[in-house]
Amino acid sequence: MNLHPVIHRLKRLGARDRRRAALHEAGHALVFLRLTGASITARIYPRSELWIGEKFWGGHVETYRPLIGRNARLFGLPGVVGEYVDRLDECDDDLMRDMLEAVSSSDWAAIGATVDQARSGQVVLHDELVELVELFSNPEFAADHARWARLLIVKAAGRYDGPIPPGEIYRRHRP
Ligand SMILES: [Zn+2]
Repeated sequence: MNLHPVIHRLKRLGARDRRRAALHEAGHALVFLRLTGASITARIYPRSELWIGEKFWGGHVETYRPLIGRNARLFGLPGVVGEYVDRLDECDDDLMRDMLEAVSSSDWAAIGATVDQARSGQVVLHDELVELVELFSNPEFAADHARWARLLIVKAAGRYDGPIPPGEIYRRHRP
């Protein structure tokens, strides 16, 4: 049996998933900076154990300032908006629904809701989502987002040698 095509396909899937994770965390991080001006640390990492249906890459942002209310909702959502960034110019109700369904349980927690509350329609996020889609469609913001995501990927691959403390994928203070 020739495993080469399988390995090639897995590699490609892995690279695509790594980009997804990076766009996700970069989305959270950039919006947090805009909301607070406080520093934030973002990381992406390959998962060591994989279960069926799970993603190859995980990610995490660490913040040192709690957010509540509207700010919490605006901070919890941009992970998925970041993941869907390639499709935002054709954003309609279907895509909005897809994005909300893709919000992870930890992101719902950041928003201040449980997955059950979200599924049963108790949390209305339409306005925040529209606002974020507009923000991510702004060319200047989009360029920043792409740059941060690239930096996360390069750091995760262990090739970044810029002025960032070891062990940290990205940390930045607003200028
Ligand atoms: Zn997230």
